[in-house]
Amino acid sequence: MTVAAQAMIWQSAGLPGQKHQTETASGRCMICGTEIDGEAVPAKRIIKSTTVGDSQLFRFRQATHFCIPCAWLMEIGKGRPGNFIASEPTGFELAVISVESVVQDKRPWLHIVRDLPQLPPETPITGVLTTDVKIRLWHRCQIATIGDFGLYVHAPDYDVSEWRHFDLVDLLRAIDELLPILRAGYAKSAAYHSLFNDYKRASRDPAETLRLESTLARLRNRPEFLPALLIAGVTKEEKRAHAKPARHTDTTPADRGEADPAQLGLF
Ligand SMILES: [Zn+2]
Repeated sequence: MTVAAQAMIWQSAGLPGQKHQTETASGRCMICGTEIDGEAVPAKRIIKSTTVGDSQLFRFRQATHFCIPCAWLMEIGKGRPGNFIASEPTGFELAVISVESVVQDKRPWLHIVRDLPQLPPETPITGVLTTDVKIRLWHRCQIATIGDFGLYVHAPDYDVSEWRHFDLVDLLRAIDELLPILRAGYAKSAAYHSLFNDYKRASRDPAETLRLESTLARLRNRPEFLPALLIAGVTKEEKRAHAKPARHTDTTPADRGEADPAQLGLF
């Protein structure tokens, strides 16, 4: 029997208990479709008026029970659980997009993905990379490996919500190419669409902007580009350090080392 991604997430979290009473059942899990033969949670204990309409969530409508991993994941808390990565050797880890997050016990994606190449290529892995932590996405996870990498990528601002395969090494390379552009003060949306959308910044050094644009043109149609753009993050300090040598009299917020509101979020 193949292991569902949901079972893998639960196993990587150390087989945590779930709060609902179980009973012996057979059939398939209403969410992941895994064959149930033994302990399971009756659907009526979990489905509420707020979840009943989620057709994406309950793909196996004829089923009557939830497997234990899905029952646990359904109740995993406010973040549902938002950004996470799960693999057997490293466990279940919550993540954040911002590199300046002060949330304890959640590392930025940037730090997480840089550690991943240390794992053997055959290591199974799954996870969700999302700009919206309020919705459930774990049920859309598939199992990838370090060598054949992928994540569920949910970024409605870029019209993307899909399981995406991409190469981990390519991802890290794309991040390294994006970081200098973000340090220069460009917003992520400018890197995504065109640096010339930020005309004021782009026109300061058109030759350099064209050079950066040719890098981006090569990256933009690659599967790793959007995940890299979401994960790439720079601190205010890094932008300040970049801005100093090129200080002009007509200073912009970035030159003054102030937070550019567009950079704090995802745009
Ligand atoms: Zn399940």
